[in-house]
Amino acid sequence: MKYDKIIVKTELPGPISKKIIAVDEKFVSHSYTRDYGMVAKRGEGAFVEDPDGNVFLDFSAGIAVCSTGHCHPEIVETIKKQSEELIHMSGTDFYYETQVNLAEKMSKIVPIENSSESNPVMSFFGNSGAEAIEAVIKIARNKRRVPRMLAFIGAFHGRTIGALSLNGSKIRHHEHFHPLLPGVVHAPYAYCKRCPYGAKYPGCNLECVDFIKKTLLAKIISPDDISCLIMEAVQGEGGYVVPPVEFVKAIRDLTREHGILLAVDEVQSGMGRTGKMFAIEHFGVNPDIMAIAKGIASGLPLSITCANREVMNWKPGAHASTFGGNPVACAAANKTIELLEKGILANVNTVGAYLKSKLVEMQAKYEFIGDVRGLGLMLAIEIVDNKKDFNPDCVLRDKILHAAFAKGLIILGCGPNSVRFAPPLIVTKEHIDMVCGVLESVFAGLKK
Ligand code: PLP
Repeated sequence: MKYDKIIVKTELPGPISKKIIAVDEKFVSHSYTRDYGMVAKRGEGAFVEDPDGNVFLDFSAGIAVCSTGHCHPEIVETIKKQSEELIHMSGTDFYYETQVNLAEKMSKIVPIENSSESNPVMSFFGNSGAEAIEAVIKIARNKRRVPRMLAFIGAFHGRTIGALSLNGSKIRHHEHFHPLLPGVVHAPYAYCKRCPYGAKYPGCNLECVDFIKKTLLAKIISPDDISCLIMEAVQGEGGYVVPPVEFVKAIRDLTREHGILLAVDEVQSGMGRTGKMFAIEHFGVNPDIMAIAKGIASGLPLSITCANREVMNWKPGAHASTFGGNPVACAAANKTIELLEKGILANVNTVGAYLKSKLVEMQAKYEFIGDVRGLGLMLAIEIVDNKKDFNPDCVLRDKILHAAFAKGLIILGCGPNSVRFAPPLIVTKEHIDMVCGVLESVFAGLKK
């Protein structure tokens, strides 16, 4: 099968999809947030077909997961080969080469402060982003032996109780689930378009960092009680917010000054999505701990938490996961990294710049596109009432998502009022032109 265009041949969702959705409604947890009725049957590259034969262009990549595209032939071949040889053994109790090879590779590509030949980057394997964050929390507590944490408003780190304690993006994540981990304090992130201090960047003297220094650390939380400060280098669920380089550097300086560990959550922004292997590399800063998941194994469940040997200095039994770092997922990750390095990463930069330029052109044309932002193929447009008042228009954003789906384009929201573009990293300029064609016709139909 070779997909090369969007085909919408039934009403959406189609009749077979509708039946599947009806069963889902009856038996599947209602905690999942489905924006519209997209039922996936098969995928190839940047396209997904539903059971009714409609073909969609997928600019969500299974929420930034299918980095090498749907069912990349080399990934499929690797998975087949590995599953014929060994599917599971558990790296918690035994050794296998795919896991060891992956850890060795991660030690070469993950930038961690003070890592060296004698203090190498070590890997802990889990199955999901939230698990990677749980490992961050435990590594930091184990190293520093103090319980408190700093996180940011707008952040999303997962939905297990520990990871959830660090979230600051949606009240739905929190309501009815307290008590969470005690001792977490949230600071405003550098979302300069909507600065909580009403300041304008540049020229604001980083009031947001000052607030942490002069208010939080002086009046509310002692640096000596903080195990780690966790941040996304580019906020994902919060709205694809890219902070100024100076902000990230100032946070690194602040944490270093107080001996607080700096943990970076690269679950969404990592594995090439921003045009560098890890988003933090855009800021010239090395963290002490890094959490990675989503795109690492091209769709198989795998997460890795990295730190240098001195920081990850826990004892056998302190942390482990039966399935974490399964041989098939590790083999897929090794192949994913190879494919990224062989050309996909370069593609992210050329195609990402092309998509951004097209979105900027649209921004000039449409009053409701308040902002275009992001790095590589982690891009978003922020939907507002008009450019002057700049009030979030969440209803219009949702209308855009639905209208795009009706025309065969899969896109998701991020933040309260932004549309995200997180396609497979193998997309071409032709795919971008298709997306822009769909967006133009969606916008024309909005009568705004
Ligand atoms: N961290 C970030 C930045 C994320 O975007 C996500 C998921 O969207 C997570 C953590 C949690 O990942 P998972 O859903 O695999 O637990």
